[in-house]
Amino acid sequence: MIDLKTLEVWFITGSQNLYGEETLKKVAEHSLEIANGLNGAQQIPVKVVYKPTVKSTEEIYAIIQAANTAENCIGIIAWMHTFSPAKMWIRGLSILQKPLLHLHTQYNRDIPWSSIDMDFMNLNQSAHGDREFGFIVSRMRKNRKVVVGHWQDTDVLAQISTWARAAAGWHDWQGAKFVRFGDNMRFVAVTDGDKVEAELKFGFSVNTYGIGDLVAVINGISSTEIEALINEYEASYTMDAALLKGGEKHQSVYEAARIELGLSKFLVDGGFKGFSDTFEDLHGMVQLPGIAAQRLMADGFGFAGEGDWKTAALVRAFKVMGSGLKGGNAFMEDYTYHFDPNNALVLGSHMLEVDASLAKDKPALEVHPLGIGGKADPARLVFNVAGGEALNASIVDMGNRFRLLINEVEAVEPQNDLPNLPVARVLWKPYPDMKTGCAAWIYAGGAHHTAYSQNLTAEHLQDFADMAGLEFIRIGKDTKIDQLRNELRWNDIYYK
Ligand code: MN
Repeated sequence: MIDLKTLEVWFITGSQNLYGEETLKKVAEHSLEIANGLNGAQQIPVKVVYKPTVKSTEEIYAIIQAANTAENCIGIIAWMHTFSPAKMWIRGLSILQKPLLHLHTQYNRDIPWSSIDMDFMNLNQSAHGDREFGFIVSRMRKNRKVVVGHWQDTDVLAQISTWARAAAGWHDWQGAKFVRFGDNMRFVAVTDGDKVEAELKFGFSVNTYGIGDLVAVINGISSTEIEALINEYEASYTMDAALLKGGEKHQSVYEAARIELGLSKFLVDGGFKGFSDTFEDLHGMVQLPGIAAQRLMADGFGFAGEGDWKTAALVRAFKVMGSGLKGGNAFMEDYTYHFDPNNALVLGSHMLEVDASLAKDKPALEVHPLGIGGKADPARLVFNVAGGEALNASIVDMGNRFRLLINEVEAVEPQNDLPNLPVARVLWKPYPDMKTGCAAWIYAGGAHHTAYSQNLTAEHLQDFADMAGLEFIRIGKDTKIDQLRNELRWNDIYYK
């Protein structure tokens, strides 16, 4: 469903006509070699496309205009091999609508001490050429990522890769459509927000559909399709005899499969990239979608419960950014705490809808009553989630801006069996510690719903926030409450 190799970043080198044919020929050769080097780098998940050197206001304007309208171009990498007087960049940068990475590199890694002469100096000027470029971008208050180092260094490639993944997530949001079945869970504040402003800022739209529209599609699914999907369940998950054909709970699995197929068809036919539902509005549905939401998330759809369209969209963006990396990206909720002073933990889960892509081992398909919603017992996948570095992220609507809040965490494998808890679950320790992490989150107004990632880092999300114009707050190993509270106060002034 998500293929980053169809996406492109354009490698654009700035120069000027002052240097003459010979030098500009060298500039072009070197730029092509660097662009090809980046394109061939294992880490970088998208195509890097070489573009001819730009040397004038008109050429710069034309290439940026082209980048803006190129469907698969997700961003540009700019580099000034020589000096490129930056007033030439004003017109182009003023219309730039794609993410910008400023690669502050140099063709040669080392100074050739014994042979360096004025011709070499004339050609290799990025140390000052890139400062001229940096000035105009700063003067124009344009967000961008600055990456410094030789273009073959692994850490430079990793930073470019991180930015490219963020740009892919941002690109995916542009024109994306998310469905909200019904409205928000009644009276809940943090999951609500300004959908009009979100569409203006983020490029995706959220529209509501009556649950009856979905029920009509679900009811139209054939028994042949349902039986084929149940066969897939049986091949993929551990299932009790009671759930198999002829078993007393088989009908619950049958209904769950019907719901999954109906939801999937609704999303695919409508060109939607994710959805939200609410247990308060399930008229005509036999169960709350449990396994359906879990499996659709694992397929790449964004999802969050209770009408939480912001988290659903964020989960989708995470899936695009993390595509092809080891580990999963999922809808999550801080559910309950273990306040053991020697081993404080958060148990994360949801009523049913924990993304199947997080499963450490083969999940168990189970059917149990749900103490909320008043529907038939829903089918869900139950599993544990692996330990390791991870993070939680939340987008909140602060009224005059959206805030992206993240908390880096260390996930830990469950030490205890949870025989009476029939939902998938994750355990983690927030950084820098339980008390600081939770207090910081609450001071920052973070939601109980999050997008949980096993493979994205704070750097991915910082880059993403810059592209989206989001306020970015990180709670990590070095967070101090006093500093964080001041950061929040200062940001309030910045965004006034
Ligand atoms: Mn919830």
